[in-house]
Amino acid sequence: MDSRVLVDDLSFVKMIDSKEIESKIAEMAVEINSVYFGEKIEIIIVLKGAFIFAADLIRHLNFEHNIHFIQFSSYQGTSSSGIITEKFPLELDVRDKKILIIEDIVDTGNTLNYFIDKLNTDNPRSVDIAALLFKTEAYTHTFPVRFSAFEIENKFVIGYGLDIDEKARNLKHIYQLEK
Ligand code: 5GP
Repeated sequence: MDSRVLVDDLSFVKMIDSKEIESKIAEMAVEINSVYFGEKIEIIIVLKGAFIFAADLIRHLNFEHNIHFIQFSSYQGTSSSGIITEKFPLELDVRDKKILIIEDIVDTGNTLNYFIDKLNTDNPRSVDIAALLFKTEAYTHTFPVRFSAFEIENKFVIGYGLDIDEKARNLKHIYQLEK
C-alpha cells in the first residue's frame, strides 16, 4: 500500500522500511556508545534533513553530550546547486572538544568537507561523522564516515526527514526516485 509515493509528479519506490531503520539505528548506537564510553561529546546535528534520525539516535546514546545545530544549503529539487552556504551557523567553541556530526546523508561529501575544514581551523580534539545514509559511489572526498547506517546507490531519496523541495520529510520509510 505504501510501496510507492508520488511527489510533484515524481514517483518514488520504497527502499528502506521504518522497522529496518529503527533496528539499524539501535545497532549503530551500540557501536557509538562503545566508542565514546565515559567521554563528553559535542553533538552537531545538521538541519534540516537529520532531525528525525538524530532524535531517534540520540535517545539510544548513554555518554555525556551537548547538542548543537547547524544548517547548510546547496540542494534544490533533486540536484545540488554546488554552492554551500551556512544558513544557520554553529555557536560553539570547538577547541579541544570531541565532535560528533549527525548528518542525514553523505552524497558527494562536499558539504561535510567544507564544514570539517572549517572546524579543523579551530583545533577540535576529534571530529567523527554519524550518517544515516552514505552514497559511496557519489562520494568524492577522503574524510572517513566513521558511522553509517546504510550504504546506498547513487539515486535521490526522500522520507524519514529527507525532503524534496521541503516535501516528504514526514514519510516513515525511505523512498528512492524511480527511473
Ligand atoms: P553532499 O554535500 O554530500 O553532496 O550533500 C549533502 C546534503 O545534500 C545532505 O545533507 C542532504 O541535505 C542533501 N542530499 C544529498 N543527497 C540527497 C538525496 O538523495 N535526497 C535528499 N533529500 N537530499 C540529499
